[in-house]
Amino acid sequence: MHNPYTLPDWSGSDWADELESKMGIPVVVDNDAMGAAFGEFALGAGRSAEVMCLVMLGTGIGVAVVSRRFGALRGAGAFHPEAGHVLVSTEGERCYCGQVGCWEELCSGESIPRYWTTDDGIDWDAYARMLARGICNLSRSYAPNIIVFGGGVSDNFDDFAPWLRASFAEPDPMGRPEPPLFVRAELDQPGTTGAAYLADRAIRGDTR
Ligand SMILES: [Zn+2]
Repeated sequence: MHNPYTLPDWSGSDWADELESKMGIPVVVDNDAMGAAFGEFALGAGRSAEVMCLVMLGTGIGVAVVSRRFGALRGAGAFHPEAGHVLVSTEGERCYCGQVGCWEELCSGESIPRYWTTDDGIDWDAYARMLARGICNLSRSYAPNIIVFGGGVSDNFDDFAPWLRASFAEPDPMGRPEPPLFVRAELDQPGTTGAAYLADRAIRGDTR
């Protein structure tokens, strides 16, 4: 496990091996967004997806990409790609990842009181406009047919989804016939369901 920013005490540990040796059963460790993505991909809002992006809008932004044909998109050395830290602006505070204007800094749940809340409440239109920049990056980079939103901010999915859909309503100059479908996660506990699914796959030798 390598995550010095958000899990410093666990980073560098290999507790899957440790748990396996103590419990005598196979142990699978994965990124939390990837677990949730597999839960939704197998049993939830991504059941019909050919390529699905899961966007977890929680304290941070976690992204995972899963393809029906190719499996999970993983980085070299099994490093999880951090698409939550793509740049969407030249403004904002410097993110812990070192960049200014990164998507997580500007659109995570923690960004809402800092950047998008006025005396009149949360400005969902302005938030959605910034959120759409990151979604556009995902759409261009991975060409998913379904983008699933999970995490605490997705409780307000109906407040920001119309603007997202509107921003993809024009014909795509790149020639893509249909925009991705934007949907909210369906499972109560997508991460837990996905973790069980990933463990089952690993036991069967499917490590895609
Ligand atoms: Zn960042």
